[in-house]
Amino acid sequence: MEIGIIGVGMMGQPMAKRLIAAGHSLIIYDTRNDAVAPLVALGAKLASSPQDVADRVETVMASLPEPHIVKKVATGEGGVIHGKKIKRFIDLSTTGPGVAAEIAAELKKKNIAQVDSPVSGGVAGAIKGTLAVMVSGPQPDIDVVKDALSVFGTVFVVGHQPGMAQTVKLANNFLSASSMAATSEAIVMGVKAGIDPALMLDVINAGSGRTTASSGKFPNNILPRTFDAGFATALMLKDVRLCLQEAKALGVPTDMMGMVASLWERTASEMGADKDFTTIVQTVEKRAGVTVQKKK
Ligand code: NAD
Repeated sequence: MEIGIIGVGMMGQPMAKRLIAAGHSLIIYDTRNDAVAPLVALGAKLASSPQDVADRVETVMASLPEPHIVKKVATGEGGVIHGKKIKRFIDLSTTGPGVAAEIAAELKKKNIAQVDSPVSGGVAGAIKGTLAVMVSGPQPDIDVVKDALSVFGTVFVVGHQPGMAQTVKLANNFLSASSMAATSEAIVMGVKAGIDPALMLDVINAGSGRTTASSGKFPNNILPRTFDAGFATALMLKDVRLCLQEAKALGVPTDMMGMVASLWERTASEMGADKDFTTIVQTVEKRAGVTVQKKK
């Protein structure tokens, strides 16, 4: 099918490549030329604005960094809401349920459906097509895009109210954020006690402490000191803040969320918000005076 994609960064780029490989025709737009060039080389057509994308296709996807950017691209001046052809807007970004509902209400006035479709599984999952794809929105529009979304991974239809999939995504990322923070403290403790972190991870991954941090990010991106998982601290902090905001709005206790949010605030200010989120371990290393590195 013909699909528009707005935002082809860390996640949008590999997802767009998978759509092309599956035989879909893409119209793409990104504010960065270096992001669009590799896709144009693969046959994607370039649009000049979000509205231009929405003038040319019925289905427009977006993978954008921050909720205010998603809102502007969807409903602002030059946004997809003004497009002549668009019938549905599929938001692959982590936008949060509040903004998702606001966008859905605005788009509905123009008979454009909003389908929330946040994803989990990182850049590696986007490349391999093994993402968890969480979907909420009108069933007829989900039916139209389900096959295309399944190119990204496993599709889970969460419900039909706008934002429901976003709530699941926030819960997921809060857990991922917590496990990165907790695993950082646990492994740094072992290193300070003189234990090889690689051995410690082997034990934990064979035991009950296993998490995606201990089985994925620590062995792949932290022990080799590459810090290249492909997810910026700014985005993790955004997700934890959105989760905290949502839990508070729902009247749910947020003791853990508050603590985890403050650790990510510290990572952003000490390491840089634009740095990879795996640098959270360095904030713990600095205080403990050790480095998490495989023993020779
Ligand atoms: P990114 O910053 O790498 O990519 C975003 C892209 O959007 C960039 O190429 C940027 O140039 C473009 N962009 C920004 N403003 C724009 C605008 N106004 N119009 C058009 N393009 C614009 O971010 P990412 O890591 O790919 O994340 C995208 C979304 O997916 C975020 O909401 C993030 O939270 C979520 N997410 C990321 C990961 C990950 O591991 N990176 C995993 C799951 C979900």
